[in-house]
Amino acid sequence: MAAVIRVQPAAQRRRDFARWAVSQTPKIRTVSPHEFAVPADLFEHVPEELLLDARVEGQPYVPAPQPEPQSEPQEAVREETASVQDDGRLVCGVCTRDFGSERALRSHQRQAHPDSEE
Ligand SMILES: [Zn+2]
Repeated sequence: MAAVIRVQPAAQRRRDFARWAVSQTPKIRTVSPHEFAVPADLFEHVPEELLLDARVEGQPYVPAPQPEPQSEPQEAVREETASVQDDGRLVCGVCTRDFGSERALRSHQRQAHPDSEE
């Protein structure tokens, strides 16, 4: 039997969520008066707006972060501490290491300065 994720939609979205739930095949069952049992492999297909303010497994739902645009690295970097050198390399700012890509910088900051975000 597939794992399920318990979703309690926000009160104002419950009707829309229920409409979505019964349109699935097989229908999504309720596990309590307020909770739906969404199969784990279907959860990622739940429309984002139906999950706003919902509780998932009893926890407030947190929207998945949107991917950062990859086009202009200077604009894509939003770390308060990061800066761009004249040669285009990204400086960490928390320490003085520099990196050739935003991805490398972020990876470094996550690992070297896990407490510096937010
Ligand atoms: Zn650093």
